[in-house]
Amino acid sequence: MKNIVKMYFSWGCFKEWQRSRKFGYMSLSITHLGSGSRGNSALLQSDETNLLIDCGFSLRQTEKRLAIIGINPNDINAIVVSHHHSDHSKSALRASEKWDARLYSNLETAMRLGLKPIDQVRTFSSLERIQIGPDLSFLPVPVPHDDADNVGLIVSNGEGRRAGIVTDLGESTLELMRHLEGCQHISIESNYDMNRLMNGPYPQSLKQRITGRGGHLSNSQTAEILGNLLHPNLSSIVLCHLSEKNNAPHLAESEVLMEIGDEFNGDLSISTQEGPEFTHWLGQKEPEIVSK
Ligand SMILES: [Zn+2]
Ligand SMILES: [Zn+2]
Repeated sequence: MKNIVKMYFSWGCFKEWQRSRKFGYMSLSITHLGSGSRGNSALLQSDETNLLIDCGFSLRQTEKRLAIIGINPNDINAIVVSHHHSDHSKSALRASEKWDARLYSNLETAMRLGLKPIDQVRTFSSLERIQIGPDLSFLPVPVPHDDADNVGLIVSNGEGRRAGIVTDLGESTLELMRHLEGCQHISIESNYDMNRLMNGPYPQSLKQRITGRGGHLSNSQTAEILGNLLHPNLSSIVLCHLSEKNNAPHLAESEVLMEIGDEFNGDLSISTQEGPEFTHWLGQKEPEIVSK
């Protein structure tokens, strides 16, 4: 296990250790470094493990954003790339080599990115649980998206506490819903507002692609999905990958709240391109705001 001693002396991990002692369980936190068509990356931290989901910003930007939350990039244990589109994969290989972090993707994504299995990337199959450290694992769940073999990720800290992170899908599937059920945190894309998209400047063919089975989720699709996933222990939801042309935070938030507002009493936040903005700790309703 790489750098455990070093990790405990980094400020971020020290705070996490304090928190897990206070609450009496192994902690799991989720921080989006930023989300949208210009780049996506999210840090999932347990007591002993740091996992980056997607690495779609430049290396310099990613390191800069990690520094804002007090994370030394050399303490990242692994990077998992959900699919080959550059807003999720841009600096993944360079980051993995520079930080000595293991890189994971499925075979199709590895091939599309020209990554050599074993040498440069460890490949996984759909629904194969991958253990990253003693207290963190992820389960890749296939989702429909363009010509990509995209996966949503269910991250677990081994104590039955789970967070689901899923973006870039044209529609949900029964399989995805089954795995998102019971998650205490869900980060899900809310890509476009149907009226804005239809009345916007995109050509008809692109509009059809975005709204198709392999495109992205609209605000109302996301609202409906979340409406079916509510349970008393769902403490936080992050809407992400909002289109800057075809959506706006207030539109996504109001559409989702209209669907879940009566029943959901946790935190609903929106991740933009300009992260990191907040950290959610599994089981807590109030996010910690990142000061920049
Ligand atoms: Zn994307
Ligand atoms: Zn994509």
